[in-house]
Amino acid sequence: MSTQDKNFYRQSLIKAYNHLYSKDYTVPKDICRYCGSPFYCWDHRPAISQVPNMNIIEYQKEGGKFLLIPACEDCNKYLNAGFFIDILDCLFFLRDKYRAKLFKSPVWTESELSEMSYYMQCKIKGGQIKRNIIVDKIEKIYINICTYDEAKKKLENYA
Ligand SMILES: [Zn+2]
Repeated sequence: MSTQDKNFYRQSLIKAYNHLYSKDYTVPKDICRYCGSPFYCWDHRPAISQVPNMNIIEYQKEGGKFLLIPACEDCNKYLNAGFFIDILDCLFFLRDKYRAKLFKSPVWTESELSEMSYYMQCKIKGGQIKRNIIVDKIEKIYINICTYDEAKKKLENYA
């Protein structure tokens, strides 16, 4: 499918199914529900692309909800790849994704850096900043996993 076709398909999905979803007001809306980074968009949970394959009536009968979750760009992008309904599954999936990213980004010591050109030092230091952001995301994801039960109770009371 071309990018144009994909956009058109996505727009048609939104037109058909967006009314099923409601915003999750139990969590702060200015930060990502998963990793705590700044808000970028509302993440459809379950993903809107999965709705045509679902039995909506059965899903709702069993207490399934269609939620819009505040998310950052990275988490939203990663979560589009898989079929996750439960926030906890999303959190575990994202933790593994960010950890894999972290392992690809090594830590350099000052003495290793001092042997490199100024250009390389700048490049690596830029990478270290990105690395720190990932470390921060993973830490917040862990906190969210640990406090998940509490958040779930809040959500049940709200519904
Ligand atoms: Zn995020």
